[in-house]
Amino acid sequence: MDVIELDQMEASKVVLGTSGSTSIQKNATHIMGFCFDGTTSFRPGARFGPDAIRDASFGIESYSPYLDKDLEDYTILDCGNLPIYPSKWKLTNDYFYGVTKDLRLKADQIKILTLGGEHSISYGPMRLYLENFEDLVIIHLDAHTDLRDGYLEEKFSHASIIRRIWDHMTDKQELIQYGIRSGLKEEFEFMREHKTLATSLDEMIKRLEALEGNRPIYLTLDLDFFDPSFMPGTGTPEAGGENFHNFMKLLKILNQKNLVGADIVELAPMIDSTGNSSVFACKVMREVLLAMQK
Ligand code: MN
Ligand code: MN
Repeated sequence: MDVIELDQMEASKVVLGTSGSTSIQKNATHIMGFCFDGTTSFRPGARFGPDAIRDASFGIESYSPYLDKDLEDYTILDCGNLPIYPSKWKLTNDYFYGVTKDLRLKADQIKILTLGGEHSISYGPMRLYLENFEDLVIIHLDAHTDLRDGYLEEKFSHASIIRRIWDHMTDKQELIQYGIRSGLKEEFEFMREHKTLATSLDEMIKRLEALEGNRPIYLTLDLDFFDPSFMPGTGTPEAGGENFHNFMKLLKILNQKNLVGADIVELAPMIDSTGNSSVFACKVMREVLLAMQK
Protein backbone atom coordinates (compact mmCIF):
# COMPACT_ATOMS: atom_id res chain seq x y z
CA MET A 1 0.00 0.00 0.00
CA ASP A 2 1.16 3.51 -0.76
CA VAL A 3 0.63 6.09 1.90
CA ILE A 4 -2.89 7.47 1.58
CA GLU A 5 -2.97 11.24 1.76
CA LEU A 6 -5.86 12.86 3.57
CA ASP A 7 -5.84 16.12 1.68
CA GLN A 8 -9.03 17.43 3.16
CA MET A 9 -8.14 16.83 6.78
CA GLU A 10 -7.25 19.65 9.10
CA ALA A 11 -4.73 18.55 11.72
CA SER A 12 -4.41 21.59 13.92
CA LYS A 13 -4.12 20.20 17.44
CA VAL A 14 -3.20 16.63 18.32
CA VAL A 15 -3.85 14.34 21.27
CA LEU A 16 -0.96 14.49 23.73
CA GLY A 17 1.39 11.54 23.30
CA THR A 18 0.58 11.18 19.57
CA SER A 19 1.95 12.75 16.37
CA GLY A 20 0.03 14.82 13.83
CA SER A 21 -0.34 13.27 10.40
CA THR A 22 -2.22 14.00 7.20
CA SER A 23 -1.80 10.48 5.84
CA ILE A 24 -2.76 6.90 6.65
CA GLN A 25 0.28 4.70 7.21
CA LYS A 26 1.11 1.01 7.68
CA ASN A 27 1.72 -0.35 11.18
CA ALA A 28 0.06 2.61 12.86
CA THR A 29 -3.05 3.61 14.75
CA HIS A 30 -4.92 6.63 13.40
CA ILE A 31 -7.19 9.02 15.28
CA MET A 32 -9.84 10.71 13.16
CA GLY A 33 -12.39 13.24 14.40
CA PHE A 34 -15.86 13.00 12.89
CA CYS A 35 -17.52 16.21 14.10
CA PHE A 36 -21.10 15.50 13.11
CA ASP A 37 -24.29 15.77 15.20
CA GLY A 38 -26.89 16.44 12.53
CA THR A 39 -29.45 13.78 13.52
CA THR A 40 -29.25 14.40 17.29
CA SER A 41 -32.75 14.19 18.70
CA PHE A 42 -32.33 15.78 22.14
CA ARG A 43 -29.31 17.89 23.10
CA PRO A 44 -26.84 18.67 20.25
CA GLY A 45 -23.15 19.50 20.61
CA ALA A 46 -21.29 16.24 19.94
CA ARG A 47 -19.66 17.91 16.93
CA PHE A 48 -17.36 19.63 19.44
CA GLY A 49 -16.28 16.32 21.01
CA PRO A 50 -13.01 15.54 19.16
CA ASP A 51 -11.36 18.90 19.79
CA ALA A 52 -12.55 18.93 23.42
CA ILE A 53 -10.81 15.58 23.90
CA ARG A 54 -7.63 16.93 22.28
CA ASP A 55 -7.71 19.98 24.57
CA ALA A 56 -8.35 17.82 27.65
CA SER A 57 -5.42 15.54 26.77
CA PHE A 58 -3.00 18.19 28.02
CA GLY A 59 -4.26 17.49 31.54
CA ILE A 60 -3.64 13.73 31.57
CA GLU A 61 -0.54 11.57 31.35
CA SER A 62 0.31 9.45 28.32
CA TYR A 63 1.08 6.52 30.65
CA SER A 64 -1.68 4.21 31.89
CA PRO A 65 -1.05 2.57 35.27
CA TYR A 66 -4.03 0.27 34.58
CA LEU A 67 -2.51 -1.31 31.46
CA ASP A 68 1.15 -0.42 32.14
CA LYS A 69 1.49 1.04 28.65
CA ASP A 70 2.44 4.49 27.36
CA LEU A 71 1.04 6.22 24.26
CA GLU A 72 4.51 7.46 23.41
CA ASP A 73 5.82 3.91 22.95
CA TYR A 74 3.60 3.29 19.90
CA THR A 75 2.97 4.83 16.48
CA ILE A 76 -0.28 6.70 17.02
CA LEU A 77 -1.12 9.38 14.47
CA ASP A 78 -3.73 12.06 15.04
CA CYS A 79 -5.08 12.82 11.57
CA GLY A 80 -7.31 15.68 12.68
CA ASN A 81 -10.94 16.01 11.72
CA LEU A 82 -12.76 14.79 8.64
CA PRO A 83 -14.32 17.51 6.48
CA ILE A 84 -17.82 18.13 7.74
CA TYR A 85 -21.00 19.04 5.94
CA PRO A 86 -23.12 20.04 8.94
CA SER A 87 -26.48 18.47 8.13
CA LYS A 88 -25.26 16.14 5.37
CA TRP A 89 -24.45 12.87 7.03
CA LYS A 90 -23.98 11.04 3.75
CA LEU A 91 -21.35 13.41 2.30
CA THR A 92 -19.10 13.06 5.32
CA ASN A 93 -19.58 9.31 5.44
CA ASP A 94 -18.83 9.11 1.71
CA TYR A 95 -15.57 10.99 2.28
CA PHE A 96 -14.60 8.57 5.05
CA TYR A 97 -15.48 5.59 2.87
CA GLY A 98 -13.67 7.11 -0.12
CA VAL A 99 -10.34 7.47 1.69
CA THR A 100 -10.53 4.16 3.55
CA LYS A 101 -12.28 1.67 1.25
CA ASP A 102 -9.08 0.35 -0.39
CA LEU A 103 -7.15 -0.02 2.84
CA ARG A 104 -6.05 -3.51 3.84
CA LEU A 105 -6.40 -3.12 7.57
CA LYS A 106 -5.24 -6.62 8.44
CA ALA A 107 -2.34 -7.08 6.01
CA ASP A 108 -0.94 -3.60 6.60
CA GLN A 109 -1.68 -3.48 10.34
CA ILE A 110 -3.67 -0.28 10.06
CA LYS A 111 -5.91 0.65 12.99
CA ILE A 112 -8.41 3.47 13.25
CA LEU A 113 -9.97 5.11 16.30
CA THR A 114 -12.78 7.45 15.30
CA LEU A 115 -13.94 10.18 17.67
CA GLY A 116 -17.53 11.43 17.42
CA GLY A 117 -19.68 13.20 16.88
CA GLU A 118 -22.97 11.45 17.45
CA HIS A 119 -23.29 7.69 17.17
CA SER A 120 -24.39 7.72 13.51
CA ILE A 121 -20.75 8.45 12.56
CA SER A 122 -19.78 4.91 13.56
CA TYR A 123 -21.50 3.52 10.48
CA GLY A 124 -18.60 4.15 8.08
CA PRO A 125 -15.88 2.77 10.37
CA MET A 126 -17.92 -0.29 11.37
CA ARG A 127 -18.77 -1.09 7.77
CA LEU A 128 -15.09 -0.78 6.84
CA TYR A 129 -14.11 -3.16 9.62
CA LEU A 130 -16.86 -5.65 8.74
CA GLU A 131 -15.54 -5.69 5.17
CA ASN A 132 -11.95 -6.21 6.34
CA PHE A 133 -12.52 -8.89 9.00
CA GLU A 134 -14.85 -11.74 8.11
CA ASP A 135 -15.09 -12.96 11.71
CA LEU A 136 -15.29 -9.55 13.40
CA VAL A 137 -16.90 -9.20 16.83
CA ILE A 138 -18.52 -5.83 17.48
CA ILE A 139 -18.74 -4.81 21.13
CA HIS A 140 -21.44 -2.17 21.61
CA LEU A 141 -21.36 -0.29 24.92
CA ASP A 142 -24.23 2.18 25.22
CA ALA A 143 -27.23 3.17 27.34
CA HIS A 144 -29.41 2.79 24.26
CA THR A 145 -30.30 -0.08 21.97
CA ASP A 146 -29.78 1.99 18.76
CA LEU A 147 -31.76 -0.72 16.97
CA ARG A 148 -34.68 1.35 15.65
CA ASP A 149 -35.28 0.75 11.96
CA GLY A 150 -35.05 4.50 11.32
CA TYR A 151 -35.97 7.44 13.53
CA LEU A 152 -37.75 10.70 12.61
CA GLU A 153 -37.65 9.66 8.94
CA GLU A 154 -33.87 9.16 9.08
CA LYS A 155 -32.68 5.62 8.28
CA PHE A 156 -29.16 6.46 9.43
CA SER A 157 -30.10 8.18 12.69
CA HIS A 158 -27.93 7.88 15.79
CA ALA A 159 -30.88 5.85 17.17
CA SER A 160 -30.66 3.32 14.29
CA ILE A 161 -26.99 2.84 13.80
CA ILE A 162 -26.57 -0.62 15.27
CA ARG A 163 -29.55 -1.77 13.22
CA ARG A 164 -27.92 -0.41 10.05
CA ILE A 165 -24.73 -2.25 10.91
CA TRP A 166 -26.68 -5.43 11.63
CA ASP A 167 -27.82 -5.25 7.98
CA HIS A 168 -24.17 -5.77 6.95
CA MET A 169 -23.27 -8.56 9.36
CA THR A 170 -22.85 -12.18 8.33
CA ASP A 171 -23.31 -15.38 10.35
CA LYS A 172 -19.57 -15.46 11.02
CA GLN A 173 -19.66 -12.04 12.66
CA GLU A 174 -21.00 -11.33 16.11
CA LEU A 175 -22.56 -8.45 18.04
CA ILE A 176 -22.34 -8.22 21.84
CA GLN A 177 -24.14 -5.37 23.61
CA TYR A 178 -23.76 -4.26 27.22
CA GLY A 179 -24.96 -1.37 29.38
CA ILE A 180 -28.18 -1.03 27.41
CA ARG A 181 -31.01 0.28 29.60
CA SER A 182 -33.23 2.26 27.25
CA GLY A 183 -35.12 1.35 24.11
CA LEU A 184 -38.41 0.17 22.66
CA LYS A 185 -39.95 -3.13 23.71
CA GLU A 186 -39.39 -4.40 20.16
CA GLU A 187 -35.71 -3.51 20.36
CA PHE A 188 -35.31 -5.48 23.58
CA GLU A 189 -37.14 -8.38 21.95
CA PHE A 190 -34.72 -8.13 19.01
CA MET A 191 -31.75 -8.37 21.41
CA ARG A 192 -33.27 -11.37 23.20
CA GLU A 193 -34.08 -13.10 19.94
CA HIS A 194 -30.54 -12.66 18.60
CA LYS A 195 -28.86 -13.13 22.01
CA THR A 196 -26.79 -9.97 21.59
CA LEU A 197 -27.35 -8.47 25.04
CA ALA A 198 -25.25 -9.24 28.12
CA THR A 199 -27.51 -8.34 31.05
CA SER A 200 -24.94 -8.22 33.87
CA LEU A 201 -21.28 -7.32 34.32
CA ASP A 202 -20.49 -10.96 35.16
CA GLU A 203 -22.15 -12.16 31.98
CA MET A 204 -20.29 -9.56 29.90
CA ILE A 205 -16.94 -10.54 31.43
CA LYS A 206 -17.63 -14.21 30.66
CA ARG A 207 -18.61 -13.45 27.08
CA LEU A 208 -15.46 -11.42 26.46
CA GLU A 209 -13.21 -13.99 28.12
CA ALA A 210 -14.74 -16.71 25.95
CA LEU A 211 -13.70 -14.98 22.70
CA GLU A 212 -10.88 -16.76 20.95
CA GLY A 213 -7.58 -14.87 21.40
CA ASN A 214 -6.94 -13.94 17.77
CA ARG A 215 -10.48 -13.04 16.91
CA PRO A 216 -10.66 -9.41 15.70
CA ILE A 217 -12.73 -7.14 17.92
CA TYR A 218 -14.15 -3.70 17.22
CA LEU A 219 -15.41 -1.53 20.10
CA THR A 220 -18.14 1.06 19.53
CA LEU A 221 -18.39 3.08 22.74
CA ASP A 222 -21.25 5.52 23.22
CA LEU A 223 -20.18 7.54 26.25
CA ASP A 224 -23.73 7.58 27.66
CA PHE A 225 -22.89 3.96 28.57
CA PHE A 226 -21.43 5.57 31.70
CA ASP A 227 -23.65 6.88 34.44
CA PRO A 228 -24.52 10.58 34.00
CA SER A 229 -22.99 11.26 37.43
CA PHE A 230 -19.60 10.62 35.79
CA MET A 231 -20.39 11.68 32.23
CA PRO A 232 -23.12 14.37 32.19
CA GLY A 233 -21.76 15.95 28.98
CA THR A 234 -23.69 13.85 26.51
CA GLY A 235 -26.77 14.36 24.37
CA THR A 236 -29.07 11.67 25.78
CA PRO A 237 -28.05 10.86 29.37
CA GLU A 238 -29.66 7.87 31.05
CA ALA A 239 -29.45 7.01 34.77
CA GLY A 240 -28.20 3.61 35.85
CA GLY A 241 -24.92 3.44 33.96
CA GLU A 242 -21.54 1.90 34.65
CA ASN A 243 -18.52 3.46 36.34
CA PHE A 244 -14.92 3.77 35.16
CA HIS A 245 -13.64 0.83 37.19
CA ASN A 246 -16.11 -1.66 35.74
CA PHE A 247 -15.34 -0.34 32.27
CA MET A 248 -11.65 -1.02 32.96
CA LYS A 249 -12.49 -4.60 33.96
CA LEU A 250 -13.86 -5.08 30.45
CA LEU A 251 -11.04 -3.18 28.77
CA LYS A 252 -8.37 -5.21 30.55
CA ILE A 253 -9.87 -8.30 28.95
CA LEU A 254 -9.90 -6.61 25.53
CA ASN A 255 -6.27 -5.63 26.12
CA GLN A 256 -5.44 -9.36 26.20
CA LYS A 257 -7.45 -10.03 23.04
CA ASN A 258 -7.21 -8.61 19.52
CA LEU A 259 -8.79 -5.15 19.58
CA VAL A 260 -8.36 -3.91 16.00
CA GLY A 261 -10.49 -0.77 15.94
CA ALA A 262 -12.81 1.46 17.92
CA ASP A 263 -14.91 4.56 18.02
CA ILE A 264 -15.84 6.77 20.97
CA VAL A 265 -18.90 8.91 20.42
CA GLU A 266 -21.45 11.28 21.96
CA LEU A 267 -19.28 13.58 24.06
CA ALA A 268 -21.12 16.92 23.95
CA PRO A 269 -18.62 19.01 25.92
CA MET A 270 -20.61 22.22 26.26
CA ILE A 271 -23.43 20.49 28.14
CA ASP A 272 -21.03 19.98 31.08
CA SER A 273 -19.80 23.44 32.04
CA THR A 274 -17.27 21.99 34.50
CA GLY A 275 -15.33 20.41 31.62
CA ASN A 276 -15.04 17.16 33.59
CA SER A 277 -16.85 15.09 30.96
CA SER A 278 -14.17 15.95 28.39
CA VAL A 279 -11.40 14.94 30.78
CA PHE A 280 -13.27 11.71 31.60
CA ALA A 281 -13.75 10.95 27.90
CA CYS A 282 -10.09 11.68 27.22
CA LYS A 283 -8.93 9.25 29.88
CA VAL A 284 -11.27 6.60 28.48
CA MET A 285 -9.81 7.26 25.02
CA ARG A 286 -6.26 6.84 26.30
CA GLU A 287 -7.14 3.43 27.70
CA VAL A 288 -8.90 2.34 24.49
CA LEU A 289 -5.96 3.51 22.35
CA LEU A 290 -3.55 1.57 24.55
CA ALA A 291 -5.70 -1.58 24.56
CA MET A 292 -5.46 -1.47 20.74
CA GLN A 293 -1.63 -1.67 20.89
CA LYS A 294 0.23 -4.97 20.87
MN1 MN B 1 -25.66 5.13 20.79
MN1 MN C 1 -26.63 6.20 23.73
